[in-house]
Amino acid sequence: MEVKCPKCGAENWLENQSRCLACSGILRRCTDCASYNTAGERCNKFGSEIDRRDAENPSLLSSSTNCLGYQCAR
Ligand SMILES: [Zn+2]
Repeated sequence: MEVKCPKCGAENWLENQSRCLACSGILRRCTDCASYNTAGERCNKFGSEIDRRDAENPSLLSSSTNCLGYQCAR
């Protein structure tokens, strides 16, 4: 799937890599994902709690970084 990097805007083909080829920003953010419940700050798909800061600005340790259920909502 084609995903626009939230940091630099570069288009990345998202398959196995988790980071932007141009700026190494993390491509999968919960806040962009169709399964994320913004009001409840949790993932509807896996039922895990994801706080909003992590959802908007994930680190390499965030659960979204390599999430297999990621569905870009934009
Ligand atoms: Zn980027």
